[in-house]
Amino acid sequence: MVVIAACVHSAPSLPGPELEPSITAFQRTILGALSGETEIRPGLKLANRMDIANKREARAYLAAQLTAIGLTAERQPYGTDSENVYAILACGKPGAEAVVFGAHYDSVRVAPGANDDGTGVVAVLATARELVKTKNRTRDLIFAFFDEEERGLVGSRNFAQMLKDRNRAIHSVHTIDQVGWDENANRAIELEIPYEGAVDFYKQAAAALKMTMPIWETPETGSDHVSFRRLGYKAVGITEEYRHKDTTPFIHKAGDTFATINWPYLASTTRLMIQVMTMLTNS
Ligand SMILES: [Zn+2]
Repeated sequence: MVVIAACVHSAPSLPGPELEPSITAFQRTILGALSGETEIRPGLKLANRMDIANKREARAYLAAQLTAIGLTAERQPYGTDSENVYAILACGKPGAEAVVFGAHYDSVRVAPGANDDGTGVVAVLATARELVKTKNRTRDLIFAFFDEEERGLVGSRNFAQMLKDRNRAIHSVHTIDQVGWDENANRAIELEIPYEGAVDFYKQAAAALKMTMPIWETPETGSDHVSFRRLGYKAVGITEEYRHKDTTPFIHKAGDTFATINWPYLASTTRLMIQVMTMLTNS
């Protein structure tokens, strides 16, 4: 019998299209609870994630999700009753850089915030769920959920400052906000003020997955990526076609509900992010 040795340096397996149904099942469960479609705990449905009692429920729920994935949930309280929730997936190499992938979990008061930004939150969680399975990572990953984006990027500003204060070596920061609307079904995403090389990198990730959607670059400053850039970090925002006018008409409205979410688009965007994070932590 001839035994053929396997390649020693095996590349991580690609997140293929067969992954998308399981991404969707996972995301529907979590986004259902966050957006008041289903009970977040017995007897309680969230009307929004602005009121403090609701935000406390959302934080506890997100921390529990991180724990369920196998990560250790950490909290960054700031101000009077504000808090970022995050987890570090360490690569085990001393002094390794980290890649940050985050989304804001708060909403405006009138909206359930399913798309804005429940979709970003479940994209981060589904990515974390896959990345914990990868081996031989060369960088740490920090998965973060920011408070108070809707009050002026307050949570992300505090999170960026914490990284600075800890003198953390950061490769790049990726924040995702509103990835649940794709009426023209072209699967396109926009990269907001991408750091140098980011667009090419995302296009390489898409090409590796044989995805052919447009990946646009825009100058949009309306989300958390700005907080990191202000402190000198390489940052990029990821969103639906906000500037290209294929974006939810329900932003900051009561209609931003679970029922409006385009699940296949959310899953395909998430699959791209899994590939981006895998490549960033295997280079
Ligand atoms: Zn948002």
